[in-house]
Amino acid sequence: MQSRGLPEDGRAKVRRAHILRKRGAGRPARLSAGFAISAIAGIVMLVLSCGDGAVEPAPSPTPVATTVVVSPTSATLTALEEAARFTAEVRDQNGQVMAGTPIAWATSDASVAAVDGSGVVTSAANGTATITATAGSVSGAAAVTVAQVVSAVAVSPSADTLVALGDSVRLVAEATDANGHGAVAATEFVWASSDTAVASVGSSGLVTAAGNGSATITASAGSASGSAVVAVVLAPAPVLADSLSVRTVYAIPRNREFVQAYSDSVGAALHHLQVWYRDQMDGLTFALADTIPDVCRLSVRDDFLTVHPGGAGERWDAALEAVSGCGPKHNDEAFIWIVYFDVDEPCWTEERPQTLGRGGDGLTMLGRWDLLGLTDRSNSLPCGHGGQPHGRWVGGLGHELGHAFGLPHPPGCEAEAPTCDKEALMWVGYAWWPDTYLRHDERAILRGSPFFEER
Ligand SMILES: [Zn+2]
Repeated sequence: MQSRGLPEDGRAKVRRAHILRKRGAGRPARLSAGFAISAIAGIVMLVLSCGDGAVEPAPSPTPVATTVVVSPTSATLTALEEAARFTAEVRDQNGQVMAGTPIAWATSDASVAAVDGSGVVTSAANGTATITATAGSVSGAAAVTVAQVVSAVAVSPSADTLVALGDSVRLVAEATDANGHGAVAATEFVWASSDTAVASVGSSGLVTAAGNGSATITASAGSASGSAVVAVVLAPAPVLADSLSVRTVYAIPRNREFVQAYSDSVGAALHHLQVWYRDQMDGLTFALADTIPDVCRLSVRDDFLTVHPGGAGERWDAALEAVSGCGPKHNDEAFIWIVYFDVDEPCWTEERPQTLGRGGDGLTMLGRWDLLGLTDRSNSLPCGHGGQPHGRWVGGLGHELGHAFGLPHPPGCEAEAPTCDKEALMWVGYAWWPDTYLRHDERAILRGSPFFEER
């Protein structure tokens, strides 16, 4: 085929050359137009190339931060002071990651969640906040939710004893998150008693005695719970007697008013001590002259001991003198006397020991702090007495009553000997009443007292 094709091509060239010659003679304008087109092409070529005429590739455009994506897109923190790290990825207009681009972090609400310069978010309060990462003129965001989850529940007081049917104590539950912060959001506790025949509990934590025994009271919130042990020790009715009994006086200075709660709480404390001594003495205990104290109106003011110029012994005599018209005296054959004075005294010092809060020889006299303690108003007490448990004030009376019955301090204690029986009622065990005891030698003394009988 090719050998035959060549002569044909040769003939075609001759024919076209002939035609062009004819046109070139007759229509020169066509040639001029053709030149103009090639000149424009040359100018365009010059514009696109540099002086040397070489054509270079177009330079790549400067990367510009175009998108910011924050990871994770959301986070929930379940405790306060919990931290979570966020990262931000910046990409340019071509979708290429721009590593090392400076990021500015911000939070919509620092009171809920704060963020530092490296994207670490720390929870501060329940709520929601938006965390924003900005690079140049673009930004990305993530949502942070702070919602405390209860991790532990504490119930206080952790133990209590109820001594009468219907007696109640309010338990308080506190929920905390995993970092120990109080769960401020309203936490609903579910209260339950391990033995409702002993003690029942209401939806607000009020525990009520129902029978002798011990019950565990539990407060639950979610999967966390806490508990307290409530013992119910129902005391029998107080044993009263006309003579050879413990008789109590509530002494009111002329510038003070009668306080019903003082009278009630002193009566209750003596009843509890009567039962406690019976437990310690295998059925022997003292009788009470009455269920409530006699009221004795004094002619002196409530500062009469504070301003008294004498020493401790003289003040003691002055106190006894002030109340003697109502009957109290040492070594009374019919009564062991207990006097509660509603009077204040200065804090104890070596130079000025307190007058009240002592006992011996058939008489004990106590002051206003004991009345406040017995009525659970001791939080405001001065001289370091504040905040002590109710039992300390009952035990304090039990200790002074022991002195009034003739019990000394345990051997060696006053000399600070290491053999001192510290936890006995007659030393500092009174502070943990009723978790204290009468010593063997003390019980022997009391068995010899005409005031102790099987009751
Ligand atoms: Zn003592």
